[in-house]
Amino acid sequence: MRLNSTATDHQRAVIVGAGPAGLTAAYELLARTGIKPIVLEKSDCMGGISRTVNYKGNRIDIGGHRFFSKSDRVMEWWLRMLPLQATENGLAAIKYHRMERTVAPSAAGPDPEAADRVMLLRRRKSRIYYLRRFFDYPISLSKDTLVKLGLWRTFKIGVSYVRSALFPLKQEDTLEQFFINRFGRELYDTFFKSYTEKVWGVPCGHINAEWGAQRIKGLSVWSTLIHALKKVFESSSSDIGQKDTETSLIEQFLYPKFGPGQMWDEVARHVKEMGGEIRTGYRFERMITDGWQVRALQATDSATGRTETFQGDYFFSTAPVQELMKSFDVAPPPNVVEVSDGLVYRDFITVGLLVRSLRINDETPQGKKLISDNWIYIQEPDVLLGRLQVFNNWSPFMVADPANVWLGLEYFCNESDEIWNLSDERMVTLATEELSKIGIIDAAQVLDSTVLRMEKTYPAYFGTYDRFAEIREHVDRYENLFLIGRNGMHRYNNQDHSMLTAMMAVDDIIAGKTDKTGLWEVNTEMDYHEEKGRSG
Ligand SMILES: Cc1cc2nc3c(=O)[nH]c(=O)nc-3n(C[C@H](O)[C@H](O)[C@H](O)COP(=O)(O)OP(=O)(O)OC[C@H]3O[C@@H](n4cnc5c(N)ncnc54)[C@H](O)[C@@H]3O)c2cc1C
Repeated sequence: MRLNSTATDHQRAVIVGAGPAGLTAAYELLARTGIKPIVLEKSDCMGGISRTVNYKGNRIDIGGHRFFSKSDRVMEWWLRMLPLQATENGLAAIKYHRMERTVAPSAAGPDPEAADRVMLLRRRKSRIYYLRRFFDYPISLSKDTLVKLGLWRTFKIGVSYVRSALFPLKQEDTLEQFFINRFGRELYDTFFKSYTEKVWGVPCGHINAEWGAQRIKGLSVWSTLIHALKKVFESSSSDIGQKDTETSLIEQFLYPKFGPGQMWDEVARHVKEMGGEIRTGYRFERMITDGWQVRALQATDSATGRTETFQGDYFFSTAPVQELMKSFDVAPPPNVVEVSDGLVYRDFITVGLLVRSLRINDETPQGKKLISDNWIYIQEPDVLLGRLQVFNNWSPFMVADPANVWLGLEYFCNESDEIWNLSDERMVTLATEELSKIGIIDAAQVLDSTVLRMEKTYPAYFGTYDRFAEIREHVDRYENLFLIGRNGMHRYNNQDHSMLTAMMAVDDIIAGKTDKTGLWEVNTEMDYHEEKGRSG
């Protein structure tokens, strides 16, 4: 079989996974080709890691999901699915990981109080919780920070920074060395070590420095100082250009009224209306090949236990690479199997806690109010808790009764860890005790709870990842097989990157292209352009 642009109504694509990548691929095929997609999803819901779970009217994400993309194609796609809410403030800046772009809400957009199909424009606030106190995130070297840290710690931070600046470590192979060379050991120990190690479950000394270069690029003591100075300068001129202040200082992001899962339910609805098929409860297990062509795949229906064969002309996989590599009827070469077996993942537990109130509040002229943070990084080393979400602040419509506070307590772990296997009851007890211990709630204020476990949320850039090219070289030879998305490509991809890989795979099918190089450049290539854009 050859890929060509005369794809007809008789052609079929089989897609593994109804997450952002799989659903985007299905939608794009229906919108732009005659190829009919069938999506096989092992769970019973849409959105994959970007799902939203509705627990008794309280909605919770697998980690809050901001909607941001440098790509106009993705931004426009999202806003076609869920139009931006009406605001009268003109251009609004939205930010993500130090990237920024504007969106143009119009007064004619839907009113979230009246309409459900709406993308909200939300204020972003997140802080670090350490020493039972709040610090700005990203950390700012403000007077407030230094007062909270105390004289002795501040002195030690200064001395260790100067030492690192004058005598940087010659070797910079690990993330720990990367951090120390940029911030000094003391600042690294204070603000980076505990949270990073909670996320990855290994000492920073075991993580490749490249990860730091990708995620923390541009951040240093100098950039932090410059940011602090810029803030002083910008706020002192705020009365001159109120409009500029509105677009440049207020950090905002886009978020569907009912969480990211709403986006993916909406896309799934379109896919079905346009003639696509989505089967839930189907676990893909086996890939049937003929030379370098995939002919069919087999999946088991969890309801009946029956295995079905799905033939197709094109195949898309968003399943974890490790799983895909085990599914081929013809085993990959031993070196490829070795790399695949050595890939590492990090898993994730979220405990939803519904509480009457918190022990910490924002002091406002109108009195005490719920803190305005969307999420808080928990840097305290005496608890396992990694991050705390306050879903009321993501969207007020996520909470059944706005008088209550709906929290998501996030634990990064491995499936092999004891914590992964705790009963729901014990997990809730642990979460409640930890949040009480660090002074955020009173255990007596807890009204209800739920526990969500999600496997393979973070594909790690350690293990055998440095040999990933060997896997890629092998799978890319299957002409009609497209690896897309986050776990599908073992990439630290966000929703937009995951979607772009799906969109580009469909572009390639339409263009009759069999070379997959472009797909693997999404994310790496974009970061390169963003970096260039900032320095230019
Ligand atoms: C804590 C956290 C916070 C995040 N925050 C953001 C954010 O703020 N903004 C953002 O844009 N992105 C964010 N992301 C990233 C985002 O979640 C992912 O990029 C996105 O969900 C990846 O989409 P995907 O379709 O590739 O994979 P997934 O979301 O993993 O979906 C894959 C689907 O395939 C199914 N599947 C897997 N194996 C099989 C099989 N064998 N058979 C059948 N079905 C199968 C799964 O059940 C799943 O539904 C975050 C991720 C995490 C973990």
